[in-house]
Amino acid sequence: MTGDPDRGSAGCDPSAVRVEGGGGGGAVWTLLDRRALQARVAELGARLRADYQGLEPIMVSVLRGAVVFLADLVRVAAMPCKVDFMAVERSDASDRTGVVRIMKDLELDVTGHHVLLVEDVVDTGLTLAYLLEVLEARRPASLRVCALLDKRARRRIDVPLAYVGFEIPDTFVFGYGLDLDERERGRDEVLATADPQALRRNPRLLPARGR
Ligand code: IMP
Repeated sequence: MTGDPDRGSAGCDPSAVRVEGGGGGGAVWTLLDRRALQARVAELGARLRADYQGLEPIMVSVLRGAVVFLADLVRVAAMPCKVDFMAVERSDASDRTGVVRIMKDLELDVTGHHVLLVEDVVDTGLTLAYLLEVLEARRPASLRVCALLDKRARRRIDVPLAYVGFEIPDTFVFGYGLDLDERERGRDEVLATADPQALRRNPRLLPARGR
């Protein structure tokens, strides 16, 4: 494996970010469209294929937000790898503590294997810090993180990210696997809003789905 972290072009290609409309009062805009996502995931996949050549990593995805990203990533990486899943819950939703519970553990034994933790979005970093601690204790041959989105401005704890799809601003995002009331994961774009509560109260503010 090479040692260089991959943050893309400064973590995010600004030309890939298309903003429509304003930021408040339930406004929704496309942060990353399908083309931008596909292009960046393809870059990450190629990088993983090169870095993990001959290593047959275990890709660990965190349910449920990272599943769509993982599904695309394993196909473009096109390399021998195993896939497993963990589910966690932060018991304190207010970003103050990193108290996390494992709701579903891995089925594979990662000891002595190369592990790549695939995350949807790293926000405060508390969830990821906990997961890394849990996995490190199982003595993998290596442990790295591939995160689709990095909300760096909100970080409360330093977590090493070897691969990052896009660095994004401090705003709520959904679609492409990411949750808004368990209804919007199936969109093939990453949408953003400054006011997710307004969308929960009034789903008619959401843009129509379509290609
Ligand atoms: P952290 O522990 O604060 O880094 O939070 C990480 C987890 O919170 C992610 O894996 C997501 O499940 C969730 N999360 C954080 N920001 C967002 C968002 O903007 N949209 C949807 N889920 C989010």
